[in-house]
Amino acid sequence: MPFSKLGLSQAMVDGVKAMGYIEPTPIQLRAIPLVLEGQDVIGSAQTGTGKTAAFALPILSKLDKHEPRPRVLILEPTRELASQVETAFRDFARFTNLRAAVLYGGVGYGKQMDALKSGLDVIIATPGRLLDHMERGTCRLDNVKYLVLDEADRMLDMGFLPDVRRIVEKCPRERHTSLFSATVPPQIETLIKWAMKNPQTIEIGARRSPAETVKHVIYPVAEDQKSDLLRELLERVNYESVIIFCRTKHRADRIAHLLKRNNHAVAVLHSNRTQREREEALKGFRNGRFEVLVATDIAARGLDIADVSHVINYDVPQHPEDYIHRIGRTGRAEATGDAFTLMVAEDSQHVQSIERFIGSKVERIKLENFNYKYTALFEEGKPGQPVGYERKVKGVRLSGGYYFGPAKRRRR
Ligand code: AMP
Repeated sequence: MPFSKLGLSQAMVDGVKAMGYIEPTPIQLRAIPLVLEGQDVIGSAQTGTGKTAAFALPILSKLDKHEPRPRVLILEPTRELASQVETAFRDFARFTNLRAAVLYGGVGYGKQMDALKSGLDVIIATPGRLLDHMERGTCRLDNVKYLVLDEADRMLDMGFLPDVRRIVEKCPRERHTSLFSATVPPQIETLIKWAMKNPQTIEIGARRSPAETVKHVIYPVAEDQKSDLLRELLERVNYESVIIFCRTKHRADRIAHLLKRNNHAVAVLHSNRTQREREEALKGFRNGRFEVLVATDIAARGLDIADVSHVINYDVPQHPEDYIHRIGRTGRAEATGDAFTLMVAEDSQHVQSIERFIGSKVERIKLENFNYKYTALFEEGKPGQPVGYERKVKGVRLSGGYYFGPAKRRRR
């Protein structure tokens, strides 16, 4: 079914055409007609499924022409997502006179106030900065007709739900509300009951299995050898660009520092960096100035970064869905990629829940000729059989002994 048959405005049909989209994705096919009908929609879909267009296109279709009081409010958990969504709105709306702007913290108020004063149709915001503007009296929500709560589970994880509630309370009751969330924990369930009217649920693209284009393995290692193993992996792997995920901002900084000392061109992405630093990190990584990006989950969620040849989980992710999300940064658009996860003894529980979530066991391997210290993890698997050799797990034949080709690394 082409976009032109979905009931969108001609400007939106022309907009997606100019973006080079040919056919709607499954979530777009299902969400667009519902939003056009005025239904509240819950989309349990992840980034990468085309969910931004799924809500942006029908909402923009309904706006017709510019009015100076904001009619659309999109809440996003991070500044990066907010600015990515703003770019998408501008792209889709290029054949209209509608105006959109993004409001997030970490930058001055001047430009945002000017945009608000000039009269906006669409506001895309992170909760904290939006509340600041509301308290200063520079932004009112009493004309909002479309509210989108994007990545609601992430907003919950980041402690934004009380802010989100305060914002929703300031929107008119007569409105259309959409909510997107990869998971629906009880707190989000409560929010749905409170903020939405007879919502229709669309479950799409909740990807539980890694893409076939990604080869992913686990490297068991003793805690105090993690950084040595990481350095050695980077030395031996023939990579183009790598994202390294860490559990905390502090660990991300420490690893970035270590790798810089080893002459890697490194950028860091976490929520304590200023907006400018984050933008520069992303830009530099995209254009190849940095070969390594060290990031936390929160900062990296949903970013549209193509052409990553390797993902390394320096820390095992705490939420199984983050595993899929992280390793999905590589092997995109039919390219192949590798994902390595460093695992220490205390990660066992988390690894088990990841394996339950994806429905298969992840292969454990050892890096050849690395001077390993003993860890109990090497006893995993069948008794008497060392990790890294052919074995059967749950009836699936796995072969180990992974081997890297000659040390060869592209330097920029
Ligand atoms: P999203 O899940 O909204 O972050 O979208 C992920 C990526 O898919 C973005 O780069 C979009 O530009 C792209 N995309 C979304 N919808 C389509 C479509 N119908 N055809 C081709 N690309 C799309």
